[in-house]
Amino acid sequence: MERTFIILKPNAVRRGLIGEILKRFEQRGIKIVGLKFLWMTQEQCEKLYEPHKGKPFYEELVNFMMSGPVVAMVVEAPRVIEMVRHIVGATDPLKAEAGTIRGEFALTVTKNLIHASDSVENAEREMSIFFSPEDLIEYKLDIQDDI
Ligand code: UDP
Ligand code: MG
Repeated sequence: MERTFIILKPNAVRRGLIGEILKRFEQRGIKIVGLKFLWMTQEQCEKLYEPHKGKPFYEELVNFMMSGPVVAMVVEAPRVIEMVRHIVGATDPLKAEAGTIRGEFALTVTKNLIHASDSVENAEREMSIFFSPEDLIEYKLDIQDDI
């Protein structure tokens, strides 16, 4: 079993896409173990995007991520890091496959609606910026034996 970290970016919230996006994870059978609605601080944002510091898009990205509230979540499933990125689609919405979240709802790279961790190491690092261990809830999903 694996866990990953997801953020619905401020434009996903403003555009009323929270339900649409969460539905896609739920209907796959992916279990939500942590969920928060929050407005990111500068410190959280800098930690999250630390690996991108110094890149040409960094400032614009950080400002955008702090432009409104976001939904942060930790989800659990087998191979979930790859599965979530598959559901999310490529970073550039132009290259994201049809049927993916970015491929269906996003237009530009910076405002590509959603963040998802790309490795076990980054998932651990990123979720710990927003969640403490006691925020993550252990329970059995009703459908767990049927996926
Ligand atoms: N980004 C951008 N311009 C770029 C590359 C990335 O604005 O040329 C933004 C984009 O919002 C992306 C985020 O920076 O989601 C993190 O980039 P990464 O390469 O990690 O893409 P992701 O993992 O989100 O697909
Ligand atoms: Mg990334």
